[in-house]
Amino acid sequence: RHPWSDELENKLQNVFNLTSFRENQLNAINAVLSGKDVFVLMPTGGGKSLCYQLPAIVKRGKMETTVVVSPLISLMQDQIDHLKRLNINAEMISSKESAQSRKDAFRKFRNGELDMIYLSPEMLSKSQQCKNTIKLLYDSGNLARIVIDEAHCVSSWGHDFRPDYKLLGFFKKEYPDIPMMALTATASVRVKQDILSQLGIEHAHVFQQTFNRPNLIYMVRPKNKNSTFEMINEIKMRFPRFTGIVYCNSKTQCESVANMLQTNGLSAAFYHAGMGNEDRTNVQNMWQSGDIKIVCATVAFGMGIDKPDVRFVYHHSIPRSLEGYYQECGRGGRDGKTAFCTLYYQFADFKSIESQIKRDKDLKSQVLKDRHLEKLRNVLNYCSNRIDCRRKLVLQYFNENFNSKQCRKTCDNCKSTNTVEVRDITESAKDII
Ligand code: ADP
Ligand code: MG
Ligand code: ZN
Repeated sequence: RHPWSDELENKLQNVFNLTSFRENQLNAINAVLSGKDVFVLMPTGGGKSLCYQLPAIVKRGKMETTVVVSPLISLMQDQIDHLKRLNINAEMISSKESAQSRKDAFRKFRNGELDMIYLSPEMLSKSQQCKNTIKLLYDSGNLARIVIDEAHCVSSWGHDFRPDYKLLGFFKKEYPDIPMMALTATASVRVKQDILSQLGIEHAHVFQQTFNRPNLIYMVRPKNKNSTFEMINEIKMRFPRFTGIVYCNSKTQCESVANMLQTNGLSAAFYHAGMGNEDRTNVQNMWQSGDIKIVCATVAFGMGIDKPDVRFVYHHSIPRSLEGYYQECGRGGRDGKTAFCTLYYQFADFKSIESQIKRDKDLKSQVLKDRHLEKLRNVLNYCSNRIDCRRKLVLQYFNENFNSKQCRKTCDNCKSTNTVEVRDITESAKDII
């Protein structure tokens, strides 16, 4: 145990309202609080933020401040809102704020009033005022640590290179004794090496975990006009008392599928971005508490969802990317027990999502559209693949080299050459059925 162990436990529960740590969180937090440089490699949704937000409120002195660099203003804003609701003193400074609010944030920053200050990378590397304030804090011993979130942006090998991140290397040169924490979900070896050397933290303690979720069972099935009934029967037969999610591709689909489930005696509701905030919160709460068993949802259903005992995730239509698919399936089986992830695929759904992307006015440049179309084509390849291990295929997109022997027949392609009977699969998952 460490001198701060009790405080961590206490604040995890009473400030963040969480019951326990996830894999690697506590180890990473202990390492950074011990003054080490730390590199955290965790899948999206794994809980990287807590690794720096919790130590930020375990302070040696009242005026100690953690500096966080994050690439997206919207991400920063979300986090600041969340932290303020938890009564944590956090502000952000980027070139986008009004002069007044920037001035206010700088004043609090300078006076050591903040637990955390979020800075855009160009602020930290270029703004003289910013550099001076950091120096001031450092000289008074109140610079706790520097955190580089989405650290893959440092690397031009990554998928999201930001030139301003390159300049963050100055930090370790100027303040070698201040601990740095870098975090990312990008698992490629080349990107990892690049991050460590660019930031000057080659000796950092690395906390890395596999992205594989061994308790999730992956299946792809052909979709036809009977699929919805097949799904309903399966839920009734196999998961009668269990909680699950059915992902759909449109608002109307969510509503009609939810309707069919209800008509067939299942406890279901729908959830999509077309509903009012209050309705959405209601559905989410009822599902979270177990009053509703099944939510038929678009991908809008996801943020902040952490129900441990989700036993099945159906994709009534194909997802738009394999990253998204991984995240959505990942909402199943958080308690470590088996969960079933079943994807219904028909080419017509591919065509309709393809045309949605082509028409999408939010995707402003052609480059952006092409990127989304490529992701969708990857999903198509995944669905049409009847040979390779599903885990291997999914993890490939996170640059993880998975040995399909370790799948132990928990995906349809490893189990047989064709779609698996549910009966077969349940043999390997007796713990829940
Ligand atoms: P990442 O940055 O790795 O993608 P986040 O930090 O945004 O992930 O966390 C994803 C979700 O997991 C958030 O809703 C967060 O509240 C939740 N979470 C993080 N740590 C825990 C924990 N120890 N217990 C329960 N939920 C957690
Ligand atoms: Mg994050
Ligand atoms: Zn497999």
